[in-house]
Amino acid sequence: MVSNLQEQMKVQKMNIEDRMSKIGKKIAIGSGKGGVGKSVVTSLIASYLAKQGKNVGILDLDITGPSIPMMFGTDEKPIGGSSGIIPVVSASGIKIMSMSLLLPSNEEAVIWRGPMISGAVSQFLADVIWDELDYLLFDLPPGTSDVQLTLMQSIKLDGFIVVTSPQNLAATIVKKAISMAQELNVKILGVVENMAYAKCPSCGKKIDVFGNADVNKIGIETIGQIPIDPEISKLCDEGKIEEYEIDLGGIYNLLEGL
Ligand code: ADP
Repeated sequence: MVSNLQEQMKVQKMNIEDRMSKIGKKIAIGSGKGGVGKSVVTSLIASYLAKQGKNVGILDLDITGPSIPMMFGTDEKPIGGSSGIIPVVSASGIKIMSMSLLLPSNEEAVIWRGPMISGAVSQFLADVIWDELDYLLFDLPPGTSDVQLTLMQSIKLDGFIVVTSPQNLAATIVKKAISMAQELNVKILGVVENMAYAKCPSCGKKIDVFGNADVNKIGIETIGQIPIDPEISKLCDEGKIEEYEIDLGGIYNLLEGL
């Protein structure tokens, strides 16, 4: 029994190594708190990379609150076989895998304890057939939980991007997410500030809605800023987030340079 389990784990580990060896860069995107727009940021980075001609995948690891498929307007069921599960593909060619795609309906809740969630993460890593990708982005759940730990201990990430919003900047919870990555030897690439500013609808001028929040107080460089924009929430609701136009060239250059 024990040796059988050990054998299964060995096979899973080998599968993870094999799948990940075909992927150029593996980037995790996390936040301290929920609702700061982490999935929006993941989707916008993925879309920007895809627009530059890169082969991109997103693994939505927000197992209990997945939202990536909704933002890309896909609820297709992935095809599974003996060699693994084939991710679904978005309008612009981004490969997507998420727990919500495997559930019978969108409203289905995943009520699992930690070990089940960790098991799901390992299975996703071992079984999803990404094939060759330039980038695989991991959309993490908020906080420092089993998902983060399992991911960071199972594969060698190339970097970790922290998402925050100006109101949540000072939160010690952001620092906790950062220190977890540091403890597990994952390189912190920087902070993306979501809802950093608004644009005046008539003159296009930048408005600092939350005052001039000082990101540097968490001691990590800002690598991108995303405005609070009704167009973003509209496109999220319509499942068309990849149509949003934003220049994320700074993040692109940083990722290409890794
Ligand atoms: P998280 O992943 O941190 O829980 P999401 O990325 O799912 O948060 O964002 C939650 C919702 O907030 C989105 O569906 C979207 O409607 C809205 N939202 C996030 N960022 C923005 C933004 N920059 N401008 C407008 N709405 C946003």
